[in-house]
This record gives sequence, structure tokens and C-alpha cells, in this order.
Amino acid sequence: MSKKYVYFFANKKADGSASMKDLLGGKGANLAEMTNIGLPVPPGFTISTEACIYYINHDSKWPESLDVAIDEHLSRLEEVTGKKLGDENDPLLVSVRSGAKISMPGMMDTVLNLGLNDLSVKGMASKTSNERFAYDCYRRFIQMFGDVVKGIDSELFEKELTSLKENKNVKNDTDLTAEDLKELINNYKIIYKNAVGSDFPQDPKQQLREAINAVFDSWNTERAVTYRKFNKIPDDLGTAVNVQTMVFGNMGNTSATGVAFTRNPATGEKEYYGEYLINAQGEDVVAGIRTPQKITNLEKDLPDSWEELKNVYKTLEAHYKDVQDFEFTIQENHLYMLQTRTGKRTGKAAVKIAVDMVKEGIIDKKTALTRIAPEQLDQLLHRQLDPEVEYTDKIMTTGLPASPGAATGQVVFTADEAEKWKEDGKKVILVRSETTPEDIHGMIAAEGIVTSRGGMTSHAAVVARGMGEPCVAGCEELKIDIKNKQFTVGSNIVNEGDYITIDGNNGNVILGQIPTVDPKFDDNLKSLLSWADDIRTLQVWTNADTPKDAKKAREFGAQGIGLCRTEHMFFDEKRLPIVREMIMSKNKEERKIAVNKLLSFQKEDFKGILEAMNDLPVTIRLLDPPLHEFLPQREEIKEEIIKLKYTGGDENSIREKEELLKIVNSLSEINPMLGHRGCRLGITYPVIYEMQIRAIFEAACELKKAGKNPRPEVMIPLVGHINELKPLVAMSKKIAEEVISSYGVTLKYMVGTMIEIPRAALTADEIATEAEFFSFGTNDLTQMTFGYSRDDAEGKFLGYYVDQKILPLNPFQSIDTTGVGKLMKFAVENGRRTNPELQIGICGEHGGESNSIEFCHLLDLNYVSCSPFRVPIARIAAAQAAIKHGDKRIVDVRIKKNHEHNKELEH
Ligand code: ADP
Ligand code: MG
Ligand code: MG
Repeated sequence: MSKKYVYFFANKKADGSASMKDLLGGKGANLAEMTNIGLPVPPGFTISTEACIYYINHDSKWPESLDVAIDEHLSRLEEVTGKKLGDENDPLLVSVRSGAKISMPGMMDTVLNLGLNDLSVKGMASKTSNERFAYDCYRRFIQMFGDVVKGIDSELFEKELTSLKENKNVKNDTDLTAEDLKELINNYKIIYKNAVGSDFPQDPKQQLREAINAVFDSWNTERAVTYRKFNKIPDDLGTAVNVQTMVFGNMGNTSATGVAFTRNPATGEKEYYGEYLINAQGEDVVAGIRTPQKITNLEKDLPDSWEELKNVYKTLEAHYKDVQDFEFTIQENHLYMLQTRTGKRTGKAAVKIAVDMVKEGIIDKKTALTRIAPEQLDQLLHRQLDPEVEYTDKIMTTGLPASPGAATGQVVFTADEAEKWKEDGKKVILVRSETTPEDIHGMIAAEGIVTSRGGMTSHAAVVARGMGEPCVAGCEELKIDIKNKQFTVGSNIVNEGDYITIDGNNGNVILGQIPTVDPKFDDNLKSLLSWADDIRTLQVWTNADTPKDAKKAREFGAQGIGLCRTEHMFFDEKRLPIVREMIMSKNKEERKIAVNKLLSFQKEDFKGILEAMNDLPVTIRLLDPPLHEFLPQREEIKEEIIKLKYTGGDENSIREKEELLKIVNSLSEINPMLGHRGCRLGITYPVIYEMQIRAIFEAACELKKAGKNPRPEVMIPLVGHINELKPLVAMSKKIAEEVISSYGVTLKYMVGTMIEIPRAALTADEIATEAEFFSFGTNDLTQMTFGYSRDDAEGKFLGYYVDQKILPLNPFQSIDTTGVGKLMKFAVENGRRTNPELQIGICGEHGGESNSIEFCHLLDLNYVSCSPFRVPIARIAAAQAAIKHGDKRIVDVRIKKNHEHNKELEH
């Protein structure tokens, strides 16, 4: 038997089901599912993704049996509908629709009204007694077929339509008569013939074949490829093709077409949400051609259909147990379902919906947790307009609040400009009449998006929500003048480069820059996070350098600080001169004075942060960067010397500068990343580390004396050899004990190291004899394992590598599990073999990225550490990893200890 490439759906029975998305694509699988659960779906059939993949891999040839299978299914469809494709009396019309496994909004084009030709249009006219309608369908079909299948610029058709309207002196398409449309169709055919070189095809089977091929081909159009790249969708899935009986929303005032969500996808509120247009077809709603009606108005407009629609809302949610985003058409008071899929939603809505559905008993807590894309929480933690700032007098206009969050930036009018300005380090707001998939790169580059047309389900709105980017849509008062690079709202004129601020929560477009502030946690998120905490086995710590960040992170649920960097503490204007004094001191005495001054500063730093994290561990990394970073640039000093000499500056200053230049020269390095930094500095320049260690313990002891519970952990960076670690651990312990006994307190502390040099990972068994903890510094570990300097790689070739699939992912964003990850696994296993009580965490940026967190769970780390704002994200991601993989930890002494330790922490 030959392979089954075609799947039928009609009359409450389908060959497919929702679980067959790989084969039928999302749209096809759900058309089948909706058919099976008895929703009114116009019958049709789905050509599988396997056929598409075959076509792509075989030079645009169909698999052998496909022709026959399509013919057979077409006959079945004709039987079911009692109509025939191309029939002269009562023709069957179909739509040809693409649909990949993963929904790709707007990426693939649909052809409607297929099957019309010069004869069947007459049949349709007399059968429906609506000549105007029949010819309207035909002209739409020629335009769509020309555009989608033959790549004819649809502007050509639009111009023709516009000039006809002008000639006939009418405003709307709907005002054109049948005779007008016939004239239009003749002109459309001429456009078609001029562009394609042959007549518009009259044979419906040929129309169908060409349309199917166009859908197959659309898998590899540039915009589809861009979308997949941005959303990390594999390129080899292929798309299915759905051939479906047409229903008509453009049959007059009892017909309509619409889009709806079972809950509000922006806020998560359980309410009827959606839009429709009376007497319209296809994508009129989403394309922003006319501004659509709110779905609840349907109750007035078409009460019977409204009742049916309310049932659909109920049926869909009860069946799918999740929010659905669906498309429907009403043909002369009859409702038809054309599509459903899981509704994309904002982070805020995702959280509310997940929690509400648990309360409503629809799903359990674990399911609720898996419903959140951890990265999406970013939106909840999005900046909002500063409530303290009064700006109402600066509001220019209010559009639709299409995607939440506030953003401020300079106005640009094209996607290309947005990208260019962004590359120049500017923040921009992209202002468009509406967006199309061609604008994606600009939407990515922008801080926010404003459109003058289109509704809550327009392209701009959907894509912005997906990206978590603020968007205000449908600002009808905003008139864009692309030519002069400006827009006007009433008397306000805003030029390219002017600042505006948008608020995606209420749709306000505001003149000028309004400050934005960090958001607050809502109760839903709190519930969800507490469920996550019950399930996850990984702790979530934070990277924080200041008491302020530490407090923020603690509010967000951080259970410790995994990385407190000390270098920035040296850069403030009071300290930098002292740091320089220390570096440049000529003898021990001078150096001692400088170091002592720094000590008191550092002690205050550490006190602040240990106090903010009272009861929780604080991992303080000793100084890491090379010393020259604290000195002025060579060129700068040279210039100053020249200036001094030129202006007859005094001898002493000149000598001093020359002295400085000498030191800067001596400290300069060819490759600082691999140079004199980290523990190498600690060993050759012990004063700095001694000072820092002393400061840490004096700070801790003073807090201890004051009844607090500081938990310092000293972290030694950039160790590659056990012999580097040994003296520094000894030094740390010696100073610690000295200080502790001089204060007469007891204090628990740890001394450990970062694992960020491949050699350290490879000798983890040795390193673990000295270290009480490991913390993977995956930024450096990735740099050194790949041999890339991150800044050079990201600026020059890494993007290209990822595009060309030389690397599957940017390893600085998500841990390279096969390479870097192997080193980590090796280090975990060998480290713990030596020291079963070894505490292990990660403090690279990967610690806040969900795939990397999943990997850390599998490695059985004790914690991940990430930036304060990513703590909630990491808590959810850690819970999802635990749900997916279970608690993989082998129960042994260490684990029990850790559990106790965790308990202790959580109290
Ligand atoms: P997309 O993938 O962009 O959502 P669709 O295949 O859903 O494209 O088609 C776009 C629109 O065309 C649908 O929302 C619907 O309004 C219209 N459409 C598609 N098939 C039919 C049909 N059989 N009858 C009526 N309208 C249809
Ligand atoms: Mg589309
Ligand atoms: Mg659709």
C-alpha cells in the first residue's frame, strides 16, 4: 500500500486528530479535532507535511500517489457537499491554506475562493441570486491567486480597484456593483497576463495544483525563514496544506468574519474577547482594512450567531483545557469554525490564566506551571511608567493596548531604520500604519511598536505580545507621512528621531520621554511561584553586587547570592584614586596606607550586602579583572603629557604622569582575558586579596556581634591548577580565623572556587580537596572551551555561525551541553567523588536561562544563580525541570545534608 498523504474531515468525523500536528500541521490537526468534537467545521482534507517535505527534497515533484489521493479526496468532498469544483451551475469553492506544526502567524498565505472561473462564477451568481457577491469572490480570487501563487505585486490590483472606485465615485468596495466588478475582473486578468505571460487559469484542477505548490513553496520564503529563525523553529518540518470548502462572510449583512480568544490574551481576564467585521472575508479583520467591532457587539448584530459563539467558547475550553485563539465565519446567520489553536498570551495573562484554571478545577498545579514560558515572565517584570510622574497633558492619542509594558524611544518609520538606529545604540519606537511579516527585524530591534491601523489581533499586536514588547495598535488619529518622515496627531507633529513614550497597558501614546519604573509582583504570580517552590529541587540564588540589588533579588525569592563581584566597588570616584595609589605605591608603607583606606570602604560594602542577605549565603568573588582596568588609558596619559609640556606645565606633574605611563605600559597586555587577572593577581599581588578577605570577615564579625547571621562564602576566581588554589585557601582561612578570634565570635563560612577554566574542570577531583564549593563561571568556561573571545565572537562571526547552523545555538545564551556541559558533568562527578559534601552552583549568565537551568537540574547542581530580575523566571524553570525529569538525585549522605541545608535556608 502506498503512503497516506491525505486526511479527510467532514461531518463530525475526521481521519486526523489534535495529536497529529507533526503530520497535519497545527491548523489541520485542529480542524480534524474540531470536526470530531462536533463543531461546525466546513469539510475538507489535509495534505500532510510529509508530502511537503518530499516536494522540497525532490525538486518540486509530488510523491507518486499524491495526485490520485487528491483526486479521490476531492471527489469525496464533492459528494459530501453535493457540489462540484468548477461546476457551471453550483460550483464548489475551496480555500487552500497552509499550516505548519508550530503556528506561524501570517507567515504563509491562503488562497480563498478557488474553483471560480468565467463559467462557474455565473453559476454561483444565479445559485445565490447575488451577482455582486459572486463577482466580488471572483475578483478576490484572481488577486489572491495572482499575488500568492504567482507573486504578482498586489499593489497593481489595489491600484486598479482604487481607480475604479474613483471613476465610479464610490467610497467603499461594497458600493461597487456587479457590473463594476466585471469590469474590474477584466482588468485584473490583463494585469495577470502581463505579469505571468499566460491567461488566468480556467481549469480548477490546475488552479488547485498550483495553489498547493505555492503553499509548499511558501515554507521557504524569506519571511517564513526569518520567523523560524527568531522563534527557533526547525527548518525541516514542512507545512501541511488544507483544502477546505469555502464559507462566505461577505454574503451581506447577516454574514461576518472574525477572530476570538476564549479569554483575554492581554490580561488573562475570563471574558468574551474578539473582533469581527460584518460582510467581510478572510483576513479583512487582521489586516486592519476596516477597524473591527468588539465581539460582544455581535449580541446586537447577529443574536443567533452570538448564542452559537458563546457555546463555542465553552466547548473549546472544556475540550482543550487551555485558552483557544479561533477564527470563524458567519454565512447568512450560520456560524462556521475555521481554525483554533492555543492562544498566545502575555506573561501577565499566562500567569492569571494558569492560576485561574487551577481554581476552576480545569487543570492541576503542575500543569499550570508548565503553561508558563519562563522567559515570558520577563514581561511581568517589565518596566512601567513611573506613577509619580504626571504626563496626562502630554498624551497625544490613545490606541488599543495591544501588548503590555511601557517604552520610550526615538521615532522611526521603517523596520530597516529601526534596525540601523538600534545598531547605533539608540532606542527606538517603530511607528507604522500596520506591520507585516517583512517588518519582523525592525520589530525585534525596537523598544516598542505603534500602528495607526489594525486591532488587538493585528499582526503587530500578535507579534509584539509574543516578543514581550510594548505595542499600541490602531491609533487612528495618528497620520503617518512616510515621505517627510513624520507623523501628526491633531496639531502635534512628530519627526523621525523625536522621543515618544508608549504605554501598552492602556494604549497611550505620549510626547517626549517619560521615566519608567520596575513593576510589582501580583498575587497570581506569587501563587504560581509558591507552587514552583514546592516542586523544584534546585535552589535559585542571585548575582548581586549591591545591597539594593540584593534586596530586590530577595523580594523575588533569591535564596542566596551566588556571585557578588567586587571590582565595580573600586570604580566609584572616591575609591578609584586610592586604588591607583595602591597600584602605584613605591614601597610597602605607601601601599599599606592605601590598602587600609580601601579596607574600610570594602568593609562597609560587605556589611551592607551581608546584612541585606541576613541568614542567606553570600558568595563574594575576590578581585577578578586585570589591574590596568583601574588605570587611565595609555593614549589619554600620553596626550596629557604632551599638553602639559606644551603649556609649560610644572615639572612634577609631568614626571608623575610619565611615572604613571610607565606603570600602565608595564601592566598592558596583549590578551587581557587570558592575562594577569583573577587568582593570578591574588598570588602575585597578595595585598589586594588579603585586604578583601579581611574586609569580608571583619564585616561579618561585626554583624555577628550585632546579633545578625551573616553567611559569607569566599570565592577564588580563575583557578586552573590546584597549586593556585592551595595558597589562597590557606590565606583565606588564616585571615578568617584571625579575625573571627579577634572579634571573639563564632562564624560559619566557606572557601571555594569558580570552575571557569577547562583545566579546573578536568582536575575537579584535585580542586575539590581544597574547595568547599564549586561555582561554574560558564561565561569564561564557554569562552575558553570554544577558544572564542565572547565580545569578538558575538560581534563578528557567531551570528553567522548560528544562521548557517555551524552552531545550533549561541553558546553564550544557552549552555553548550555537549561540550561545555560535558566538562561541567565531569567536574560535578569528580568533584563530588573527592568531596561528597561539595556545594555546586552556576553563576554565569546561563543560570537564568531556562534550557540551561534544565541542564543544571539534570547535573544535580545545588543552585543556579542569576540576575535579580531573572530569579522568578529561574524558579519557574527549575520547577519545570523537576516536573519533566523528576528528582534525579541519588539519595546519599550529601543529599540528606543538602536537604537539611535547604530546609534551613527556606525558613
Ligand atoms: P493564517 O494561517 O494566516 O491564519 P488561514 O488559513 O487561517 O491563514 O486563512 C486566513 C483566513 O482566510 C481565515 O482566517 C479565514 O477568515 C479565511 N478562510 C480560510 N479558509 C476559509 C474557508 N474555507 N472559508 C472561508 N474563509 C476561509
Ligand atoms: Mg495569513
Ligand atoms: Mg488563520
